[in-house]
Amino acid sequence: MAATGSPELLIVMDKRSTQAQVEEVVARLAEAGAHARVSSGRDGTVIGAIGERALLSSLPLEGFPGVEQVLPILKPYKLVSRELVADPTVIESRGRRIGGGFFGLIAGPCAVEYREQTFEAARAVAAAGGTMLRGGAYKPRSSPYAFQGLGVEGLEILVEAREATGLPIVTELMDARHVEQVVDATDVIQIGARNMQNFSLLSEVGSVGKPVLLKRGPSASIEELLMAAEYVVKEGNDQVMLCERGIRTFERATRYTLDIGAVPVLKRETHLPVIVDPSHAAGRRDLVAPLALAAVAAGADGIIVEVHPRPDEALSDAAQQLPTSDFADFANEIRALVALMGNEIG
Ligand code: PEP
Ligand code: MN
Repeated sequence: MAATGSPELLIVMDKRSTQAQVEEVVARLAEAGAHARVSSGRDGTVIGAIGERALLSSLPLEGFPGVEQVLPILKPYKLVSRELVADPTVIESRGRRIGGGFFGLIAGPCAVEYREQTFEAARAVAAAGGTMLRGGAYKPRSSPYAFQGLGVEGLEILVEAREATGLPIVTELMDARHVEQVVDATDVIQIGARNMQNFSLLSEVGSVGKPVLLKRGPSASIEELLMAAEYVVKEGNDQVMLCERGIRTFERATRYTLDIGAVPVLKRETHLPVIVDPSHAAGRRDLVAPLALAAVAAGADGIIVEVHPRPDEALSDAAQQLPTSDFADFANEIRALVALMGNEIG
């Protein structure tokens, strides 16, 4: 349920506290006009107290039975922070998992172009052990003259590809006017880099019951990415994964600069899964495997990679898509390193 006000205090319950004591704290907060967000993990229960700071500080929280200590949440992002939820969030869709030791191997074409192209890619991804199928039906293009995606027809092709392979689908929602059609069709809603700070769109997907894949804006700081995720979670949807996809720097050898350091920083700051898109970061297919392996080694919970049966004919991002014929070898390399990191493909 969406809560108003900001979570300002962290009420850490004693390890031996009872369920009744937790409920009592929640009830006392509600009585005073505040809200509670209870999170029970391996290290015990913490309650995020949500409300006006002045109101919360007037309550004798430390004296409530079962309360060990009360701490202020200092970071500007609250619900996504590790302070509030110590255990990693695991995102599930159609039996596939990302986060908490489960690695998501998401792959597929940049854009859905036509049925057979998408099916060829989907079959290759499924056969190589990929866990989800990506593909854009609505494409954010720098040029208004470039291929803009097939729209509803693209969504229908993705749904058929899911039926054929069993792979959950990931597709981008670009416009609030398309929420219903995209959300109905897709399993995971992608919010693209250019929409990372489209706050009304973020709030919109926050009230939807499907996981969100939120890409970092090319000029957005890590804190801004976390604040964007906070917009989604605040509305009640905590199934959010963050995606580092390269940022804009002075470097021109790659399309963007993959900020690999963002992965361990995000993993420390948030309980949400963190994935990497090496394809858009690199902009060229020969760099996709090394960047993907770097992402695994840095502790990412997954990768999202572009593959196409005939990349040279692709209507968008031709230079960076891996040929489907190379995908099985690529997936094997990734799988080996994921295992070495002590994780498994989800
Ligand atoms: C995409 O993944 O299809 C895409 C357009 O990427 P980004 O939003 O990161 O540019
Ligand atoms: Mn692309």
